[in-house]
Amino acid sequence: MPKQFLPLAGEPMLRRTTKIFVTHPEIDGVAVVIHPDDRALYDGATQGLGLLDPIAGGAKRQDSVLNGLEALKESAPDHVLIHDAARPFIIPRDVSACIAALVERDGAILAVPVRDTLKRGKQCITDTVSRDGLWRAQTPQAFRYLAILAAHRAAAGEALTDDAAVAEKAGLSVALVPGKENNLKVTTAEDVALAERMLALASGKTRVGSGFDVHRFTEGDHVILCGVSIPHDRALAGHSDADVALHALVDAILGALGAGDIGEHFPPSDARWHGAESRVFVERACQLVRDAGTCFANVDLTVICERPNLGPHKPAMSERLAELLDLPVGRIGLKATTTEGLGFTGRGEGIAAQAVVSLFVA
Ligand code: MG
Repeated sequence: MPKQFLPLAGEPMLRRTTKIFVTHPEIDGVAVVIHPDDRALYDGATQGLGLLDPIAGGAKRQDSVLNGLEALKESAPDHVLIHDAARPFIIPRDVSACIAALVERDGAILAVPVRDTLKRGKQCITDTVSRDGLWRAQTPQAFRYLAILAAHRAAAGEALTDDAAVAEKAGLSVALVPGKENNLKVTTAEDVALAERMLALASGKTRVGSGFDVHRFTEGDHVILCGVSIPHDRALAGHSDADVALHALVDAILGALGAGDIGEHFPPSDARWHGAESRVFVERACQLVRDAGTCFANVDLTVICERPNLGPHKPAMSERLAELLDLPVGRIGLKATTTEGLGFTGRGEGIAAQAVVSLFVA
């Protein structure tokens, strides 16, 4: 499926993008240039938005834009904005900034200054390119309509990569309007995952999961909690490394995802998990979080035991959790408590752990 029709957090990317323009008070009409074969996908994605009729694209990007501009001939608007369907994070204020710049200029594009040092080379660096005065062009690119139509007609058949280049070739003055890094062009699978996390974060909506686990003591000389080896005169029994804290955490993550429990994902009967480091379970659960297009809001974990004394080990345990979850330590709660000698933990028969996980969801 062409990427602009792919769902982002359940809504086609094209729909997200066009909605921002359709609902913008300074925009009178929005038309999408599509491949004629994609008509059904287009209809499904844009239902009810009140767009102008779609326009058939050409062989190359530049041909498609020219077709789009030609289709507006009848209405001949004062201004036109050309935008990538794959940039769904454009904000209305930046659209307005481009339009406002057309008072002074023939064109105006959103762009961000290059901050990284630029290198030229193939396998090795041949030289360092000055980034002074360099910008990365984004869209929308806004133009006085008749000027950009004439420029595109004159440049027909060339292979320029954006409309500002077409305008520059025609000698038009094009303003650089500072844009935002967030105005991501969703191109690769990695971009899709990032876009979903951005949407989840922006939604502010969360889901919560809880987890609880117990492991009994057996003979040994250390326990493993949150992936940290802690000297003790007993060890925890279990088919994996018996990291009771990480097991509670994994169950909380799975709970927030509505994705079952640790026993279903990593059955004790499966020899693969015999003696396994529990970090593997956390890594799998984190992959499920990414696959679901969600991200952690915060994590809170309580380990319950009389001994060993976990106080001195808490910084190392927190850091290990931060690393495993790819989350700042400030969003990880880690507590150790006793049960005042009461119950199985009080009698020193084992260690219990409970966890709460909150995920941002779009
Ligand atoms: Mg367990």
